[in-house]
Amino acid sequence: MTLVDALPLTPVGGPSLPQERRLVTAIPGPKSQELSRRKNEAVSAGVGVTLPAYIVAAGGGVLVDVDGNSLIDLGSGIAVTGIGNSAPEVVAAVAAQLAQFTHTCFTVTPYDSYIEVAEMLNRLTPGDHAKRSALFNSGAEAVENAVKIARHYTGKQAVVAFDHAYHGRTTLTMGLTAKNQPYKNGFGPFAAEIYRAPMSYPYRDAGLDGPGAARRAISQIEKQIGADNLAALIIEPIQGEGGFIVPAPGFLPTLVDWCRANEVVFIADEVQTGFARTGDMFASDHEGIVPDLMVMAKGIAGGLPLSAVTGRAEIMDAPQVGGIGGTYGGNPLACAAALATMHSYETEDLALRAREIGAILTGRLNAIRAVDKRVGDVRGRGAMIAVELVDPVTGDPDAALTGRVVAAAHAQGVVLLTCGTYGNVIRFLPPLSIPDDLLVEGLQVLGAVLAAA
Ligand SMILES: *Cc1c(COP(=O)(O)O)cnc(C)c1O
Repeated sequence: MTLVDALPLTPVGGPSLPQERRLVTAIPGPKSQELSRRKNEAVSAGVGVTLPAYIVAAGGGVLVDVDGNSLIDLGSGIAVTGIGNSAPEVVAAVAAQLAQFTHTCFTVTPYDSYIEVAEMLNRLTPGDHAKRSALFNSGAEAVENAVKIARHYTGKQAVVAFDHAYHGRTTLTMGLTAKNQPYKNGFGPFAAEIYRAPMSYPYRDAGLDGPGAARRAISQIEKQIGADNLAALIIEPIQGEGGFIVPAPGFLPTLVDWCRANEVVFIADEVQTGFARTGDMFASDHEGIVPDLMVMAKGIAGGLPLSAVTGRAEIMDAPQVGGIGGTYGGNPLACAAALATMHSYETEDLALRAREIGAILTGRLNAIRAVDKRVGDVRGRGAMIAVELVDPVTGDPDAALTGRVVAAAHAQGVVLLTCGTYGNVIRFLPPLSIPDDLLVEGLQVLGAVLAAA
């Protein structure tokens, strides 16, 4: 009997959980409140919690908490459980690997699943040039390594990131991240040779088209840094934490062309946009851009910690042997999960499912926008959609309203996330495994709490 056969017949989580919103206590309930009390006594206060309902099982489109409430999941643990929580194929793959070995360190005595993940990423990412991949644990760690690799390859040091960017919370990635609170405040000094360029933000820079916004950024880069000093430009093809900002068409291709003409490595941070989320396998596919390096994490392994950098072979092969790696990078359990997860994205055409979810989201949200001028913008692609809440008269961001709406949705059992430089964006990142009726119910709750707010 394999370990997979020995799994309990009635799984406690996964897609077999009843797909329903069910509230049996206030949110958070008494058991969650007791855990919050223990959390405050035991966990660093810097580790924040969006919705303190403590989870015991999850799957499909629901999260079940310790008090027995079943919540609608419109966040996927921040775009991680794209194929759903405890997806059966991931559970089986990880359980089988768990019984074989849990760790050797790939850079000590390697194993084949790491290579298989690399082969798959090399195939799935845009471009048919020769590619190589390297695996890490977190998005921030992969971003750091992409920058290291680009610097080594070019022999240059400067790195450009954009307004509203989010690339992580380590020292190098804090420097790349734009927003001070809560990500950077008090944590300096930050890494040297990081510069910021203006983003294309169509809702707030009306009149500037994509190529025009790119020329504005390029002009600033040329005047303030100089391509001769610039190793890499890093950008999220659709910004995540910064507010689901979709740059105007032509912005990204113009930047890619300029990078290529100036021997600057173009790094696409697809940590949040990757793996079918935006309706393509990667957001870069939408305009057909081919990044030199791509950073991936979140949706890659069904919830297990794994990240990757994939890119042009000559760039990826530049660092000296031993210069890239880490103890846990490409852990065998995470690789097993990633292979099962990526297989699902491909064979179940989850990019198509993301587009279906996107049609439901934008249809409902635009209907709300038509009658409620506080909804200033509905934007995003696929199952990565957001609304920007504003003062209907001035157009100023309304973070207070956003906070009230999300708190009310949480109390009604709908897990919603916010984002945005101005804290006035509600983002929708449902698992692609969510049933339509549950998604619609979540949006009905949103409509009701917004109307009442
Ligand atoms: C979440 C995120 C990161 C950081 O990933 P971690 O795994 O939290 O370190 C980097 N870039 C983008 C675009 C992200 O959304």
